[in-house]
Parts: sequence; structure tokens; C-alpha cells
Amino acid sequence: MTFDTAKELELINRYTRKTLTEDDVYRFTLTLCDNEVDRDLERFTPEALQELAALFPGKTGLFDHSCKSEQQSARLFCCWVESDRTRLTSCGEPYTCLKARAYMVRTKENEGLIAEIEGGIKKEVSVGCAMGSLCCSVCGAERRAEGCAHEKGRTYHGRLCHDVLSHAIDAYEWSFVAVPAQREAGVTKAFLKEEPMTEPILETVKAADGELKLTKAQLLSLQKKIGELEQAGADALAYREQLLDIIGRSVLVALPQINKSLFVEGCSSMDIHALKTLAQSLKKQAKAMLPDRPQLGGATAKPTEDNHAFCI
Ligand SMILES: [Zn+2]
Repeated sequence: MTFDTAKELELINRYTRKTLTEDDVYRFTLTLCDNEVDRDLERFTPEALQELAALFPGKTGLFDHSCKSEQQSARLFCCWVESDRTRLTSCGEPYTCLKARAYMVRTKENEGLIAEIEGGIKKEVSVGCAMGSLCCSVCGAERRAEGCAHEKGRTYHGRLCHDVLSHAIDAYEWSFVAVPAQREAGVTKAFLKEEPMTEPILETVKAADGELKLTKAQLLSLQKKIGELEQAGADALAYREQLLDIIGRSVLVALPQINKSLFVEGCSSMDIHALKTLAQSLKKQAKAMLPDRPQLGGATAKPTEDNHAFCI
């Protein structure tokens, strides 16, 4: 594959403050991930790879043995998906991978590293991304939301059960690992599997002006959030009831001349913080007027600060 230098520099310079020339940068190609079942028994769908191809450009990657130095970082400036119809994966799909072009600004510090890459040292990449859907390969059930009886790693009807990752939500990072020869072969990738963030989706919903399109993963995330909010709402309602009950019982003692039902009804429009404050002060007042009798009478009862209440 040949790359058009002028075009690539144009892409690279979108990410730079000063315009870089061909001599300033070192460019290289790497494979980020593919659609083969990996060691974690997970596999990206070809569609997810396409989605990731749109999310990864601009993301910076670090080299694992030097991750503290900014000099040693590279940035992806172009991603695409490649399929090989002559090579089938263990699932019988044409082998498909997410390829990327990356650049590093040439410096004295990274000369050695560039030489290593040039030298074709075995390269492995680890990617960090958020996937909206993680499905059972046997039945298609969402593992996180519903779950199913199929066990990862077991074989069902001659097929290895694994997780199918789809609906890429975000791509965070990648690291380019120059793997020493003795390292166990086959360690290809690791990635964060996070729930899609609800906040950005909620922002989108709030800002929407008319039709709104959500991915299945976003919808699932939103439905989950709605469920949580409903639960929180029910809890808050129960707490309000409890506060109103305390207010009602306390007002009988603290303000006996007041009609309890009317008072409680009047309080019902107050917010929860005001209710809490009122309940606390009325309870205190009621307690002061009708102090609890000590369980142990006489000399064994410890004097407490509240004892002055007995003197009324
Ligand atoms: Zn299943």
C-alpha cells in the first residue's frame, strides 16, 4: 500500500499547532484490532471495527516501555478497515482488521524507538474503547443487561461461546507494544469495556429539537438510567412520607393547638430539604416537651444533658 505524503501531511497538520513537514515526522502503519476471537474470548464485529475507524483518528498512543515521555507518543491520523476474503476467522467471517496510520514528531529522544519500529520488531497493540453492546455469540443475549445460560469458553453445537462486541461508543487510547520475542505469543489486545456514558446521551436528548436518533447501545443505557431514576424517585417519595409522618406526630406534641392534618397538608408542597429541617426541629421540640423516660431508673441512670427537661 502506498501513501500520499502530501495528503498525509495535511491530515497530520490538522492535529498540530505548527505546520509539520515530511522531515519533521515519522509515519508508520499499525493494526489496532481485528474480528478474531481473542484470548479474552471476545470479538469485535466488522461493523464495530468500522465504527472504531471513525473514532480512533486523533487518539494518542504510548509505547509501553516509555509511557511517561511525551516524546514517545504517537498519534493516529487515519484509520480504515481491511478485509481479506481469502482468510476466514474461527467464526467463518472474512478476516477483517482495523488499520491505522500514526505519526511521531522526530526528536533526538525517539530516534532509537523509530529505529526499532523500522527494524520490524514484532508489534502488538492494545486498544482502549467503550463498547455499547456485549452479546453472547450463541444466543445473542446482552451479557450485561440480561445475561444467559451460555458459558464463555464452552462449546455449543461445535461453536465456541464468546462475547461479541459491537456498537462502539468511544475510543480512548491505544498503546503500541514492542513485544520481546520470549513473550507468550497470541497476546493481542486488551480493552476497556465500559457502559456507554448516560450523561452525554442525556445532554443530546435535552438539546434535541425534533427527531432524535439513538443507537441501540445508547437506548439500552438510557433505559437503564430511567430505571435507576424511577427507583431513586420512589425512594425519595418514601422518604418524604416518612418525614411527613414525623412532622405529623411531632406537631401533636410540640404544637398541640395546631390542627395536625392541616399542618401536614400545608407541608406537603415543601421540598425535601425544608421537610427534613422542619421534621428535625419539630422532633427536637416535641422531645424537649415529652422527654423519653430513661430505661433504667434511679441511681444507675446516667445523667444526661437532656435531664434538665425533667425539671420543667
Ligand atoms: Zn447465550
